Amino acid sequence: MFNKILIANRGEIALRVIRACREMGIASVAVHSTADSDAMHVRMADEAICIGPATSSQSYLHVPAIISACEISGADAIHPGYGFLSENAAFVQVVEDHGITFIGPSAEHIRLMGDKITAKETMKALGVPCVPGSDGGVPDLETARTVAGEIGYPVIVKATAGGGGRGMKLARSAAEIDSAFRTARTEAKAAFGNDEVYIEKYLGAPRHIEIQVFGDGKGRAVHLAERDCSLQRRHQKVLEEAPSPALDAEIRARIGQTCAEAVARIGYRGAGTIEFLYENGEFYFIEMNTRLQVEHPVTEGIFGVDLVREQIRVAAGQPLSFTQEELVLNGHSIEVRINAERLPQFTPCPGLVQTYHAPGGLGVRMDSALYSGYRVPPYYDSLIAKLIVQGRDRPEALARLNRALGELIIDGVDSSVPLFHALLSEPDIQTGNYNIHWLESYLSREIED
Ligand code: ADP
Repeated sequence: MFNKILIANRGEIALRVIRACREMGIASVAVHSTADSDAMHVRMADEAICIGPATSSQSYLHVPAIISACEISGADAIHPGYGFLSENAAFVQVVEDHGITFIGPSAEHIRLMGDKITAKETMKALGVPCVPGSDGGVPDLETARTVAGEIGYPVIVKATAGGGGRGMKLARSAAEIDSAFRTARTEAKAAFGNDEVYIEKYLGAPRHIEIQVFGDGKGRAVHLAERDCSLQRRHQKVLEEAPSPALDAEIRARIGQTCAEAVARIGYRGAGTIEFLYENGEFYFIEMNTRLQVEHPVTEGIFGVDLVREQIRVAAGQPLSFTQEELVLNGHSIEVRINAERLPQFTPCPGLVQTYHAPGGLGVRMDSALYSGYRVPPYYDSLIAKLIVQGRDRPEALARLNRALGELIIDGVDSSVPLFHALLSEPDIQTGNYNIHWLESYLSREIED
């Protein structure tokens, strides 16, 4: 087992990893930018090293500084969290070349799934159902017109290197394909430095359902059921729950098994998420994330396992600590993502948190790096807290979420908390009757009113 783990991240996810390290008796090293000197992850880790200025490219994304911090501190492994360098195959290569263990999949698997076209081809060959679409990249406008016509409108043009909902454009009819193709390419080029795009059938009212998988890197893998992440704004997840209100045990077991078998066959190591759109009883693969997800706590809630601990064990060459049969789904879990932003426009709203009080009690988990007197810096993602509740069933989880939101105090900065209060009184949320468009149409109605 490792002696010391460096966490190449910040905020709540850095705390999350430090907590797992501490329970396992492993020392932790925080790295931070000058803007984060007073951050909670710096205070909570066993050691902290400043790796550069506020700008991420010069600190949290600066590979030489992170490797140096590893060498100075004597850390023998790096946990990347999510975002930043977590899905950067070149980084993994550098880490391994320095004799440090990367807590995550191999560089090869990250590369394979990081390119969405290759990911889709691979999954298709492994028997995973995919969204109908172009075979590979679409090089020019003429091909785009032909392919879109063959698939049938509406279609969505997506960036091969895409992520975070960027570089994605809808074309409802032939009249819109030219501009969708051009804009998607321009956005993809600007965001990812790669303008390759592909085309998919646009599904009208699907749910976003993702399967959590875990591989030991030696050909064994399990699944930990699904998370329903259909409540989205601008393709970004806002609330996640597990299990999905839309699946039954038989469908769950079937898709779970397909996913576990697929990752077992490629010898996948560590945590992974296979994302699907789900419509009319059919699953359509969209992408695989080769890292821990923001919403992993809802899975931990229903299975009572520590996914970060499992990532660390597997990276150290230990076997999975559970078999498929030992993973028994229990109750219901819901997470809300609390961002420092001002409604109704969702404008980022960094600043001084005068008072912070976290909710508690049975079945309540607050993953946050906030404290009273903390200043939310303007340089990073606006996620400031994840509130996760666990109940014996969905109604109990909803009631608990309502109660916990009522206890939460974040004074000084605006946050998305009022949105969750409002959502909980919506009949569709109470019954679980929503798809990926529900939140956007709810928000446009609210603003019009
Ligand atoms: P990213 O990597 O940028 O998050 P994804 O491929 O995971 O992109 O898609 C993000 C979201 O975009 C999905 O959850 C869904 O809401 C929407 N989306 C993606 N592909 C399609 C499609 N073929 N039809 C309808 N919606 C889609």
